[in-house]
Amino acid sequence: MYVISSVKEIQAICKKFVKEGKTIGFVPTMGSLHEGHLALMEQARQENDVVVASVFVNPLQFGPDEDFEAYPRDIEGDEQKATQAGVDYFFCPEASEIYPENSVTTLKVISRNDVLCGRKRPGHFDGVVTILLKLFNLVSPDRVYMGLKDAQQVAVVQGLVDDYNMSVEIVPVPTVRERDGLAKSSRNVYLTETERVKAPLIYQCLKETQKWIEEKERTSADVIAYLHKKLEKSKGEVEYVEVYHYPDLQPINEIKGRVILAVAVKFSRARLIDNLIVEMGGGC
Ligand code: AMP
Repeated sequence: MYVISSVKEIQAICKKFVKEGKTIGFVPTMGSLHEGHLALMEQARQENDVVVASVFVNPLQFGPDEDFEAYPRDIEGDEQKATQAGVDYFFCPEASEIYPENSVTTLKVISRNDVLCGRKRPGHFDGVVTILLKLFNLVSPDRVYMGLKDAQQVAVVQGLVDDYNMSVEIVPVPTVRERDGLAKSSRNVYLTETERVKAPLIYQCLKETQKWIEEKERTSADVIAYLHKKLEKSKGEVEYVEVYHYPDLQPINEIKGRVILAVAVKFSRARLIDNLIVEMGGGC
């Protein structure tokens, strides 16, 4: 695996592969890699000639009171894990390489953004689409692998690709979980021992709610109230419980079609998100 930190270098390498007609699979991450990230890399390995993964903790997508400085970083461990997952090019630029000077333009997300994390984290998805547009232009990927754990991110990035007619396929990958159901996340290291014991309740509550929905027709208001009550057992502070049609993230009254149940729960240092996408009696 080659480790590249220069913007010019990764772009030249990827351009060469495009010229040769090779397909490029790309996995953008913020590092501190775990099995969730590795699942994306392994799938990219199976479906493409060349696999590029990036590690960049993007300052633009963190709010002023968020954990940018404290975000877990382990670049050496990440290199080893990415090698094992079959990555060919590991791109880990400095912020000064990515954002060298004042920009002339800016990207603003205007839809799928006023709900869930987009509402709680103003400017977050503007930062996400900005870094991804830059990375897509550097890597020229055919396919980009993204986790459904961040289902709103997948929906917003699909919107970016559609809006700008980009010839990139966004490949959504199911959430990888710990044995007890807790969604793998770089932020799980922030949980205290007691919180770690309670945290799997988040997924259990989502699954129980899915079962409850499948028993008979429910309104989204009923579902939100039911799930909220269940989540209170986690002892975390329930930041949001929301239900929308997916991927357009429009409000619904009846639970019909493709629906996302999404939650965010705050513990002392960790803010955890999780979701289930339910489809006429099935989920993923
Ligand atoms: P991050 O490093 O948190 O920005 O995540 C990079 C990519 O990995 C995103 O597409 C995430 O959705 C994805 N990802 C993070 N955790 C998981 C997980 N538990 N299962 C599947 N994908 C994940």
